[in-house]
Amino acid sequence: MTAIELKHIIKSFKTPTSNVEVLKDVNFSADSGSLSLVLGPSGSGKSTFLTIAGGIQTPTDGVVQTAGKNLEQLSGKARDALRLDNIGFVLQSYNLVPYLTVGEQFKLVDKIKPKGNLSHEALEGILEDLGIANLVNQYPASLSGGQTQRVAIARALYPDPAIILADEPTAALDSPRVAIVGQLLADLAHKRNKAIVVVTHDLRLEKFADRKFTLLDGRLKEGAPEYAA
Ligand code: ADP
Ligand code: MG
Repeated sequence: MTAIELKHIIKSFKTPTSNVEVLKDVNFSADSGSLSLVLGPSGSGKSTFLTIAGGIQTPTDGVVQTAGKNLEQLSGKARDALRLDNIGFVLQSYNLVPYLTVGEQFKLVDKIKPKGNLSHEALEGILEDLGIANLVNQYPASLSGGQTQRVAIARALYPDPAIILADEPTAALDSPRVAIVGQLLADLAHKRNKAIVVVTHDLRLEKFADRKFTLLDGRLKEGAPEYAA
């Protein structure tokens, strides 16, 4: 099943002196049960692509369909509800709440979305896999970059979304942790039928991907990059 589809997406940013086209006629789709990797160097448009795919930003032109709905035809409120019910984001800014402990970050999700979240056991399993089960009483400020990144991943997975969109989820991780996160994401796609899209310049994730795309200067094509990372 197609979970996300982008058709002829153009995104340009106007400044007083210029008009920069960041995405140039991007076409993309992601199916349930598969892990797609969008690789590209810094500045190639990866974050812009991912936030448009998830309805956080609107494109200048083109169509985004998520969970069978055309995003531009939804009201802001309906789009927020669709995101909450269907999409888990791992953003570069991590988005952890500074005054809540790691454990409380998950309880906050329960408040915002009371139903359909992972069971206590399933969450515990993910925290164990990611090596962060011992951090539940700590505040974000006391975590290392890698620990913060792994908490952000667990927090995105906790609502059990059908679609997971991750922006550079392994940038702060060492290679053994990258392998754990890559395997976890691949397992979620294959065993739990999630549609997972990861944008990154981290080639260590390549071997976990079902499909690979390259974004270069705002143009997306299928296949691994030819540039040296
Ligand atoms: P990546 O995630 O691959 O590093 P981004 O999507 O963040 O790339 O950015 C791609 C290009 O778009 C960059 O040149 C960036 O400066 C520009 N850009 C991104 N967001 C904005 C914005 N809000 N206004 C102006 N330019 C932007
Ligand atoms: Mg980025």
